[in-house]
Amino acid sequence: MILVTGGAGFIGSNFITSWLSAEDRPVVNVDKLTYAGNLHNLASLKADKRHVFEHADICDMQKMRSLFEMYRPLAVVHFAAESHVDRSISEPADFIKTNINGTFTLLEAAREYWLSLSVAEKEAFRFLHVSTDEVYGALAPFSPPFSEQSPYAPNSPYSASKAAADHLVRCYHQTYGLPTVTVHCSNNYGPYQFPEKLIPLMICRALSNEAMPLYGDGLQVRDWLHVRDHCAAIRCVLRNGTSGGIYNVGGWNEKTNLEVAHVICDILDKLVPKKNGSYREQIAFVTDRPGHDRRYAINAGKIARELGWQPVETFESGIAKTVQWYLDNQDWVHDVQSGDYMKWRDRSFFQS
Ligand code: NAD
Repeated sequence: MILVTGGAGFIGSNFITSWLSAEDRPVVNVDKLTYAGNLHNLASLKADKRHVFEHADICDMQKMRSLFEMYRPLAVVHFAAESHVDRSISEPADFIKTNINGTFTLLEAAREYWLSLSVAEKEAFRFLHVSTDEVYGALAPFSPPFSEQSPYAPNSPYSASKAAADHLVRCYHQTYGLPTVTVHCSNNYGPYQFPEKLIPLMICRALSNEAMPLYGDGLQVRDWLHVRDHCAAIRCVLRNGTSGGIYNVGGWNEKTNLEVAHVICDILDKLVPKKNGSYREQIAFVTDRPGHDRRYAINAGKIARELGWQPVETFESGIAKTVQWYLDNQDWVHDVQSGDYMKWRDRSFFQS
């Protein structure tokens, strides 16, 4: 059994479905179901007994202790977080609570449980923390990409809260010997991403004939990785990563936000052409986000050298599949945009 937190979110749900198609060990999925948690993302597992859903908050120590006791997992994959930078600027409190206090609570419950394991189980146990490249702050235009040795310089409440969580994970390894591993990943994209994030926002706005908003001049640079490649990297680190290890994960795909928007428009122009003109005409530049980091880029050389992981998708192949997925799953988009997906926020979805 592995325990996954935040498994009803974008990356967590992709991780659980890919895990269960590749591995035998069952999954207990611990999720509070915030606005970002959507059980519909896991609809393909409705009849799969290897997936158990637990509606719980990672900040609840008693509940976390009882879940470790009940399921006795041999690994934790910790995705649960508040994840949207814009929301962290307008309402930082939830980011501090879940990303810092929640990670602390989970670590503490994991440590107590880990102490009860046999020597062999203790060694095999892993607490895998899913972090972000944003903890390293902004990169100057021609600087080399972030490595595992890059200094921390978070600039938003989101990245600061993730940085704090990273330090807690590190200290639980250094002080208590808990076998932790941390992955720092660049921007993910793919199926089931909530349409507040750049790529699904651009696709959904284009299709509904609305303005496609880009911050500032749109020339902020991000590295993009298809979510399934991130999930494969996590499986690889879980299997072979060194206890206490840190691995940067990225797609070697630096793009400006404007380039990303143009690629999406060009794909849509071919798949669902407008009567007049191009989707590019819907792009609208809006006032920049405060403290907006100009560039992130990841050097994913260590995980390639030491663990043999490489992304499978190029940006071109991954983005084409993603646009097609949103076209084919307009019901999912409608449910999310109308709020109908909230109706699935109870455990009965996986019990009936
Ligand atoms: P998401 O917002 O789509 O999903 C987060 C999930 O966590 C949701 O299901 C939500 O209900 C759950 N959750 C939130 N607070 C909780 C709490 N207190 N207790 C239990 N569950 C809670 O996020 P995502 O994009 O899937 O990101 C997952 C993880 O990966 C996050 O830790 C994020 O920092 C990290 N990450 C994301 C990206 C990216 O591009 N999306 C890149 C690098 C790292």
